[in-house]
Parts: sequence; structure tokens; C-alpha cells
Amino acid sequence: EKAALEAYRGKETVTGDGDKKLLVANIGNPDDANAALEHDAEGVGLFRSEFLFMDAKELPSEDEQFAAYQKVALRMKDKPVIIRTLDVGGDKEIPYLHLQKEENPFMGFRAVRYCLNNPDQYKVQLTALLRASAFGDIKIMLPLVTTIDEVRQAKALIEECKHDLDERGVAYNKDIEVGTMIETPAASLIADDLAAECDFFSIGTNDLIGYTMCADRGNDRVSYLYQVYQPAVLRSLKRIIGEGNKAGIMVGMCGEAAADPLLIPILMSFGLDEYSVSAPSILRTRRILSLWTKEEADALAEKVMALKTATEVKAMLQAAAK
Ligand code: PEP
Ligand code: MG
Repeated sequence: EKAALEAYRGKETVTGDGDKKLLVANIGNPDDANAALEHDAEGVGLFRSEFLFMDAKELPSEDEQFAAYQKVALRMKDKPVIIRTLDVGGDKEIPYLHLQKEENPFMGFRAVRYCLNNPDQYKVQLTALLRASAFGDIKIMLPLVTTIDEVRQAKALIEECKHDLDERGVAYNKDIEVGTMIETPAASLIADDLAAECDFFSIGTNDLIGYTMCADRGNDRVSYLYQVYQPAVLRSLKRIIGEGNKAGIMVGMCGEAAADPLLIPILMSFGLDEYSVSAPSILRTRRILSLWTKEEADALAEKVMALKTATEVKAMLQAAAK
């Protein structure tokens, strides 16, 4: 199989109709950018910035953060690099922030909620990202968004940071794109409004499945619920991608489901533009995209969306797999 996949190295990512898709990588630190390039990534669809904070003893300075973001920007040259701002909380703990213990950390004070409540600290990261945008095609992404206010507040802070950089005479990309993760049912339900305020979406299925199905990804007893094949999840994905397409913004997916060979034709039918997967999944994903025409994918999606259970969905996708 490996040899067969090598035939896709250096090739464009196109569907069976020759439609171009963007195939990019998820990375967790600047050195992962090398692996992404070795595996033929066309950019970075999710750079989780947590590593900078988790591997430290105290908050990383603007210069330290800038150095890490700049490194990725330079390595990826003119390829797009989406960097997600700090997604603290839930399963991601950072001891020196001394966050209060919460009974339900997945529904608590985390990610963009924490950052917007600590604007001076958030502005350090946003400023570092803006500075790095002078060295490559960097885009800023907000995690765990549930309201329009969060997007507006983050964008207002970015404007403040731009103003400060102008005063300091420091270069940055004035047209830097700002997008959001869609990984909560709330974001899915207001996707039309969010699309009007964002430059792109990236669907985080890891969290979206959990929050939609009220099922923890690590709990074996509810793993039958934690499935992308659940009709509730599929309807949500269809809605998000449809609203993003309607608004004319790029819609990507950086959750694990983007690399699921069974799901790819369904995502293609819904209109997903960008697939962000782990480096070792890149060539396989390119191959599967190339095997499906839009017409075939649409026919399968129509049948799948009429099914009532995850078991039936998975069985139909398995039977149709190429
Ligand atoms: C997701 O939730 O799908 C995602 C990509 O973010 P993380 O896995 O970092 O929570
Ligand atoms: Mg997430």
C-alpha cells in the first residue's frame, strides 16, 4: 500500500473531477513543520499553540512566541499556516496559570473564554502572531467559539495590537485572516452569522462530536455515541459547511474525521474545501479524494443522510469504500 501511495507524492490534490482541494497538516510544535513538508503537506491547517505554554514554567514572552511562529512561517514559505490561539482548559492543563478547579472543565472557563478575560495576556500572543505574519501566510484561528461576541472581541483586540505595532513601526500583514474553529453545537447553529464575521471556518470534530453527542471521547462506555457517523453529527457538519460555502469563506476540517477514509466522500459532497490531517495521513487522504467524483459522492451522501442510525451509516460507507 505504501508504494501505491508514493505515486501521489508531489501531485496536486484533486477530486476525480479534477477539482482542487487543499490538503494540509496538523502540527503541535515548530519542528513538526518539517514532518509535514516531508509528507507533502500544502500548508498547516492547525498549529496548536499550546506546546509553547505547556512546555514552559511561566507565560512565554512576545519574543519567544514570535520566534516559534516565525519559524513555522519561514519553513512553510508561502504556504498557508493557520495558528490557533491558546486552547487552555478541558484536557489541556497549564499549571502556572493557576486556573480554579472546576467540576466540569469541558464546560468551563477555557480556550477563548479564558483568553478574552485576560486581554493583556491574549494581546501578547496576538501581537506575536501579527509580527510573524510578515514572514509567511499566517492566519489566526480562535478555539471553542460559541458566540458572535467572542469573535468581535477577539477581532477588536487584534485591531488594538495592529495599532500598537504601527506605533512601534513593526511590520505585519494588514490583511491577516481571522477564522474560528467550529467545534461546539452553538457555533454550528449560528454558523451563518459566524460566517459573516470570519474569513474561514475549521471544523474541530474531536470536540464537536463530544459536545453534540454529550459523550467523552475517552470513555469506553459511551464510545458507541462518540462517532462521526451519528446522524446528529453528520447533519451538523452538512449545515456548517453549507453555511460557510454560502458565505463564500473557506471551510476546512482539522479534527480527526478529516482523515477518515470512509467519511471523505461525504465531506466532499458537503463542499469541504480544506482537509487538515496528521502528516502520515496526507498521501492516503490525497488518494481517496482522487477516487471520487462529485456526482458519486453526492449520490452516496444523499443515501447516507436518509439513514437513521450510526450503525447503518457506517455499514453503507464501508460497502461504498474504494
Ligand atoms: C478538535 O476539537 O477537533 C480539534 C482539532 O481541537 P483539539 O483536538 O485540539 O481539541
Ligand atoms: Mg478542540
